Amino acid sequence: MPELAEVEYFRKEWNPGLGQTVRRVHLHPQARIFRETSPVLLQRRLKGERFLDSFSHGKNLLFQFSGGGWLGGHLGMTGSLRVESVGDSFDPEKHDHLVLFLESVALVFTDPRMFGRIRFEVSSDSPPDWWLQLPPGVLTTVFTKERIVEFTGRRARTPIKTLLLDQSVFPGIGNWMADEICWRLHWHPARLSGTLSEADATELWKMVRQVSRQALKVIGDGWNDPPDSWLFNHRWEKDHQCPRPGCGGDLVRADLRGRTTCWCPVCQQEQRPA
Ligand SMILES: [Zn+2]
Repeated sequence: MPELAEVEYFRKEWNPGLGQTVRRVHLHPQARIFRETSPVLLQRRLKGERFLDSFSHGKNLLFQFSGGGWLGGHLGMTGSLRVESVGDSFDPEKHDHLVLFLESVALVFTDPRMFGRIRFEVSSDSPPDWWLQLPPGVLTTVFTKERIVEFTGRRARTPIKTLLLDQSVFPGIGNWMADEICWRLHWHPARLSGTLSEADATELWKMVRQVSRQALKVIGDGWNDPPDSWLFNHRWEKDHQCPRPGCGGDLVRADLRGRTTCWCPVCQQEQRPA
């Protein structure tokens, strides 16, 4: 499932179309990704407009067009964006539910399982309300440590891992990033938020930002493989060992409140309230 860095990577995939005019819009009007918008309006209003700019925020995407058109996107579980050349004979495939044919490229939104979402609104120069109401991004100055201290205190009975997946506070953090954050902090993912001191919550705030910054650099910029010193490269396969120098514990994968979670039982000991 795409998290903040993957979403940023996909945003840039459409960059070759910037400045170009939409010649034609191909879409599957019955596709579930259009459940919150009018595909007919989108098709009618985007034709003839220019692709001006793009933005990502956590797991959300926003594309700006001339004429006041704002195309929003969420990739759900299996959504992705790509660009195709229109010079050769590009025909949209089965799961290409939205294709914007521009002058030299086609911008494609693909989503086999259709948990993703497309929104379209025509407004002025200002982004749509849903976008303006998104919570502060984890790398912005308004994502303060005070906010995290207060939030962890309010959710005392919630495991840290579950807390990190709350998009209203940690937009863009998903399953692998949450596991990476817990692992780097040496915290058991099931540790309850209520056991965090103010200093711990500050460490959490710092680590969320550190992992986000590094993920954006490595994955968000060209989708490079993360280094082997991250938990990331070891969490997917069976019988893998903890990559922390000097640890070598066997990684565990188990369900935690409905999400597959990976951790090292040696260097991430469970900590319970005193
Ligand atoms: Zn370990």
